[in-house]
Amino acid sequence: MTKAARTAGPVTNWARTITYTAKEVHRPRTLDALRALVAAGARVRVLGSGHSFNRIADPGADGILVSTAGLPPVLEVDTAARTVRVSGGVRYAELADAVHAHGLALPNMASLPHISVAGSVATGTHGSGVGNAPLASAVREVELVLADGSTVTIARGDARFDGAVTSLGALGAVTALTLDLEPAYAVEQHLFTELPLENLDFNAVMAAGYSVSLFTDWREPGFRQVWVKRRTDQPAVRFPWAAPATEPLHPVPGMPATYCTEQLGAPGPWHERLPHFRAEFTPSSGEEIQSEYLLPRTAALEALYAIDGIRSAVAGVLQTCEVRTVAADTQWLSPAHGRDSVALHFTWVRDEAAVLPVVRLLEEALIRFDPRPHWGKVYEIPPAVVRRRYTRVNDFRTLARSLDPAGKFTNTFVRNILDDDFIHPLS
Ligand SMILES: Cc1cc2nc3c(=O)[nH]c(=O)nc-3n(C[C@H](O)[C@H](O)[C@H](O)COP(=O)(O)OP(=O)(O)OC[C@H]3O[C@@H](n4cnc5c(N)ncnc54)[C@H](O)[C@@H]3O)c2cc1C
Repeated sequence: MTKAARTAGPVTNWARTITYTAKEVHRPRTLDALRALVAAGARVRVLGSGHSFNRIADPGADGILVSTAGLPPVLEVDTAARTVRVSGGVRYAELADAVHAHGLALPNMASLPHISVAGSVATGTHGSGVGNAPLASAVREVELVLADGSTVTIARGDARFDGAVTSLGALGAVTALTLDLEPAYAVEQHLFTELPLENLDFNAVMAAGYSVSLFTDWREPGFRQVWVKRRTDQPAVRFPWAAPATEPLHPVPGMPATYCTEQLGAPGPWHERLPHFRAEFTPSSGEEIQSEYLLPRTAALEALYAIDGIRSAVAGVLQTCEVRTVAADTQWLSPAHGRDSVALHFTWVRDEAAVLPVVRLLEEALIRFDPRPHWGKVYEIPPAVVRRRYTRVNDFRTLARSLDPAGKFTNTFVRNILDDDFIHPLS
């Protein structure tokens, strides 16, 4: 390993709410250097763009953190096969540009395009849309460096595939992924304001476009904004439930919309409308903490009323709450595994002491709906309870042990989820 590849000083997540406790942090510049680092390390975690809000990426004080940021980007578009092979550390913004330049498109994107591809699919990251499964559902092949430095490719059709994409980084270092593409399409964003919770026809509202998000600050009942992203190859938007916005809006009330993707119905390429935030705006660090829970979609209305019941406590530490839909997928550890879901997202103020009691209160209100927390965000549900929500967790554990028998790629976060009997001294 070269000295130049080692990062000096503490490394934090994007929001600077987590300082990784790794004994060493490395930024290999070649695949061979990555393989050598992995083979030599006793405990290894890979870091993508660091946009997670918990310790999922932290190897612990005896481990090394290997960032993918210095690896040469790979972006190979196959227009005939309609696929792209992309290195794990590439961010969705660059991926989308390359794909669009070939007249092709991804089926969906998350709200922020600055997140890495491998890190996003590892945690079950999703956008919105009643027919849109998490971003991992576009993956057809994943290439990994295993604990001994060897490589393996796991493709759709392989019995291990449904454990291999949303893997919490526990199987190996993902060096590349191959994704399915479709012909490029255009999207318009139509925004509406003040949608009441009372008499909400949730299914009809969420089906009003290709991707629909509701935003609220919970200061008053109901939703301050509705964002309807309509593909121009699909029917026009009919939205009788709220008034159209007359100016561009930011999801956090009062913030300028400068960095938001274009609204007011102006058509534009898919990758400049599906994310809420513009790729050319470089967010340095966010003054926020995030939580999110995926629940069966059938429970959406009841769950929204449950939050409404604790509205003032939630509003006290909230910047914005976003409600989205996510279609079921087959990844064993996906929060949308086997169930069409409603995703309830909370962007909190960056004050952990004030936020955590409200997170616990919220979880108490939602617990009867069997919530599965987003793997990359803050939650307080005990790991043993989270584990019970995943019917295929034993299959994942078997897969992890077969690819990584010594548990080199595990950390406290992962062991808490996978091992019934594992209680870390610090947890
Ligand atoms: C402003 C903001 C907006 C967001 N919007 C959304 C959204 O719209 N929808 C949503 O679902 N989530 C959203 N998220 C959450 C985000 O998508 C996840 O936290 C995601 O994991 C971020 O990817 P990352 O590369 O930063 O992951 P990291 O935080 O770097 O890592 C996450 C996990 O992936 C593993 N990992 C990363 N790269 C590799 C690799 N190459 N090989 C093996 N393992 C790897 C890490 O070990 C870790 O376990 C948002 C987060 C922020 C900060």
